[in-house]
Amino acid sequence: MTWWESLVVELERFFRGAEVAAGVTVPYDQLPDPPTPEPPADTSLASLRPDLVPVFQNLEDRLSVTLAAVGWGLRRLETRRNDTRQGWLWGIGRLYKAPGRDGIVTDVKTARGPHGEGRAVDYAYVPYNPGTSPSEADLNTALASVAAETGLTWGGQFHLSSGDTDPAHWESA
Ligand SMILES: [Zn+2]
Repeated sequence: MTWWESLVVELERFFRGAEVAAGVTVPYDQLPDPPTPEPPADTSLASLRPDLVPVFQNLEDRLSVTLAAVGWGLRRLETRRNDTRQGWLWGIGRLYKAPGRDGIVTDVKTARGPHGEGRAVDYAYVPYNPGTSPSEADLNTALASVAAETGLTWGGQFHLSSGDTDPAHWESA
């Protein structure tokens, strides 16, 4: 068990252990605040698995062109994650809440997941021209077309345990 997994066990016991263990849903507004500041996100492509750096560079090139055609721009949010950050994110929506987040954001508790292995990147999609409101349906069509072209897995096409999709997320095998 890593130090972070030990901490999660302690947090579950301290805050909500009985409820979490019993599978009882705790209302989001009743969750406690995070026990530590948010560990920072790594946004560098260079921290990915080396063979995937050109793969994600190619993905970004394709996304930039395809999204711009329908009025959207691309912003890279996060690449590789360490145990500390993955565990902190796992706790969001389960053990504690954080500003701007209102539910489960990942089903992975430790760095053994796709971000921990350096084979996933998260992006934000923003209007190409600030103040405009491009079509979200066009955005989703464009994202799905790039997923089909590149063969990468796009999170808009799978579901987290919460039932939500994860459209920010792209990953390689
Ligand atoms: Zn992700």
